Amino acid sequence: MGPVLNGLVKLQRVENRLRAVKTKLARCRRGVLFQENQLRTLQNGLEAKQEDIKQTKLQTGRLEMDLKSRDEEIEKYRNQLNLARTNKEYSALLTELNTAKADDSKIETQVLELMKNVEADEVACEEIRSEIESQRIKVDEIRKDAESKAIELEKDIAEIQVEWDAATKDIPAEALRFFNRVADTYDGEAMAEVEQVDEKSQSYSCGGCFMRVPSEIVNVLTGKDEIVCCSNCTRILYLKESE
Ligand SMILES: [Zn+2]
Repeated sequence: MGPVLNGLVKLQRVENRLRAVKTKLARCRRGVLFQENQLRTLQNGLEAKQEDIKQTKLQTGRLEMDLKSRDEEIEKYRNQLNLARTNKEYSALLTELNTAKADDSKIETQVLELMKNVEADEVACEEIRSEIESQRIKVDEIRKDAESKAIELEKDIAEIQVEWDAATKDIPAEALRFFNRVADTYDGEAMAEVEQVDEKSQSYSCGGCFMRVPSEIVNVLTGKDEIVCCSNCTRILYLKESE
C-alpha cells in the first residue's frame, strides 16, 4: 500500500476532527439563534395581545357611544309616553320603549364582556412581559457563553486546519480534489474501508455503503497505490493494512 492511499487515510482522520469541531461551532451558534427566536416569538405575542386590547377598547368605545344615543332615545319614548293621547298610541310607544330597553341591556352585557376580555388580556400581557424579561437574561447568558466557546472552537479549527494542510502536502492534486468532492457528498466521509464479509469467505464489502466489492478491486488495492472508488457510493476504497 503506497503513500497516496496512506496519505488519504491520514487526511481522513484530520478531516473527521475538523468537521467535528466545525459541527460543534455551528451547533453553538444555532443554540443562540434558537433562544433569540424564542425571545422574538414572545415579543410578537406581546404585540399581538396589545393590539387585541387596543381593538377591544375601540369596540367598547363605539358600543358606549351607541348606548348613550340609545339612552337618549329611551328618554324620548318615556316623555312621549306621558303625552300619549290614546291607549293605542300608549301601547305602541310602550312596545318601542321595551324593545329599546332590551337592546340596551344586550349592549351593556356585551360591553361588560369586552371589558372582562381586556382585563384578561392585560393579565396575559404582564405574564408575557415577565417571560420576555427572563428570556432576555437567558439569551444574554447563552450568547456570552457561546461567544467564548466559539473563540475556543475557532482556535481549534485553525490548528486542525494547519494539520489538514500539512496532511495534504504529499497528496497529488487530482486525488485531493476527488477526496474533497466525495467528502462534501458524505459529510466528510470520503474514505471507505474494504471489509471482509467474514473470516473464511473471499467476499468483501464497502465500509461506507455495505455493497459488495469485487475481489478484482481488492487485488488492485493490494498491488497498487491507486484511487479506486466504490461503484455504488463513489467513496475511495482502502484496505485495512494501508493504515
Ligand atoms: Zn460504497
